[in-house]
Amino acid sequence: MRSGMSQIIHTDILIIGAGPSGATCSLFLSKLKVPHLIVEAAKFPRDKVCGDGLDLKVARVLRALDPELPDQLLAQADAVTPCRGARLITPGGRSVDFKYYPKPEDPHPFPLLYCAKRLFFDNFLAARIPSPYADFRQETAVKSLARTPEGHWLVEAEGPDGPLQIQAKMLAGADGDHSVLLRHLGTRKIDRNHYAGTLRQYWKGIQGLGDHIEIYFPKGLPMSYFYIFPLPNGEANVGYGMVSSLLAQKQHNLRDLFKKLIETDPLIAPRFAAAEPLEKPIGWGLPLASRRRPASGEGWLLLGDAASLVCPTSGEGIGTGMMSGYIAAHFLARAYQAGDYSHAQFRNYDKEIYRRLEEEIRLFRIMMRMPVGVYDWMLSVGVRMPFFQKRFVKLAPKWLQTAFEKEIAIAF
Ligand SMILES: Cc1cc2nc3c(=O)[nH]c(=O)nc-3n(C[C@H](O)[C@H](O)[C@H](O)COP(=O)(O)OP(=O)(O)OC[C@H]3O[C@@H](n4cnc5c(N)ncnc54)[C@H](O)[C@@H]3O)c2cc1C
Repeated sequence: MRSGMSQIIHTDILIIGAGPSGATCSLFLSKLKVPHLIVEAAKFPRDKVCGDGLDLKVARVLRALDPELPDQLLAQADAVTPCRGARLITPGGRSVDFKYYPKPEDPHPFPLLYCAKRLFFDNFLAARIPSPYADFRQETAVKSLARTPEGHWLVEAEGPDGPLQIQAKMLAGADGDHSVLLRHLGTRKIDRNHYAGTLRQYWKGIQGLGDHIEIYFPKGLPMSYFYIFPLPNGEANVGYGMVSSLLAQKQHNLRDLFKKLIETDPLIAPRFAAAEPLEKPIGWGLPLASRRRPASGEGWLLLGDAASLVCPTSGEGIGTGMMSGYIAAHFLARAYQAGDYSHAQFRNYDKEIYRRLEEEIRLFRIMMRMPVGVYDWMLSVGVRMPFFQKRFVKLAPKWLQTAFEKEIAIAF
């Protein structure tokens, strides 16, 4: 329908953003045969500042969508690097490997982690969105939101052919840390105790990359880590992040710390001696799940980074975001069937998206309270205890089993 200069689209459900959270929500809505509109400001393939590390939550959600998908993703050897685990480097300079090599008889010989540039991975998901149930519009940025007296959303967007008006009954805000829906709700205010400042820089030619991700805890810099994640073609994603309140308290400059580690740290610098940066370091923020944000209300849901769902101890938000996409789609499908988008339909949504992160949130809170010396000691001594490596090897097959066999249960 056309009105004046701008096109008007009517939809029950509008998803804003087609990153991992929004794309997953759309893919499951289509699977559940629920019509919806999904708009994305960028055009795929597009970059997103990230570590590019994918965990078993990602594999689990992909498998729930289509059992072939995890293997299809891994088969793209020119874009995806399988990793058998992580190498942790303690503040004391000792390195400890947490790796698992599946045995031939293992039913799921899938890597525990795998790395793929977001330029590739997000496109892998987005390319699967178009369906008879999904109206997918790229290069369409939501500019403003308003409610009608009847409780519908009036959405002003800018599309490739000019302004666009959307009238929707339900909004799913999957538009990341700078979410337009969060801003409309007035709840985007950053709490620095639950937010991390981060940098990413792609490199080529770093010495000694292996079949693992590397996480380095620099001495005297608690609640921060430097990472090197291996990518195909001799490239690596290198980054550094720190909880924002500590950055501010100690007046650290993240870019200076990052540069100093690469240029002078005795363990890191030699590995970069013959390496070449492929870009300037790019900054981005991480909304941590330790701050629980209201993620549902009358006619709206938040997903992924918009819902502050980044794991506070690891910085991972792709898997948790995709999990929220899966959960949101199932709540939305029920609401669509009932023709009711009131908050009552989504009462348990918040609990469902946060409950899988409870242990990490508890650990993060404990770590945040530790004095620097205790923190460094815990990582230097604790991480090296053989108990933890043995436990890791024991748990790995169970994690794989969960990812590849267990249904994702939702309590509505
Ligand atoms: C340095 C760094 C390293 C990280 N490393 C990892 C890692 O290794 N593993 C991991 O799991 N996580 C990692 N994360 C976290 C991860 O990047 C995010 O948690 C993840 O991208 C969240 O996905 P999302 O779909 O919720 O949001 P996003 O990926 O941010 O996607 C939001 C989408 O919404 C679109 N959009 C925004 N505004 C609008 C609008 N107004 N209208 C329409 N569309 C809009 C954007 O273009 C974007 O495509 C890292 C983050 C950083 C910054």
